[in-house]
Amino acid sequence: MGSMSRSIRRKKQLAEKKAAKKRLKKLQHAIDKMPDHCGSCGKTAEPDEDTSQLDWHVEIDQDSNVKLTCPKCKGGE
Ligand SMILES: [Zn+2]
Repeated sequence: MGSMSRSIRRKKQLAEKKAAKKRLKKLQHAIDKMPDHCGSCGKTAEPDEDTSQLDWHVEIDQDSNVKLTCPKCKGGE
């Protein structure tokens, strides 16, 4: 029985891997049309600015529309 449950787990892992790949593809597509400014205040996301872009909040809706929120607006919520 041990080997059987292992194969089931493997199948599950494969399915998760596939799903992750799908998500990644969707994410890449979303990044392609990612806005370069905050959706709330319109502040442009400058890569060489003090605030790291990593601090920006990225939201992706079901239609793969990306919404950027700067750290300031994100903090105000
Ligand atoms: Zn903002």
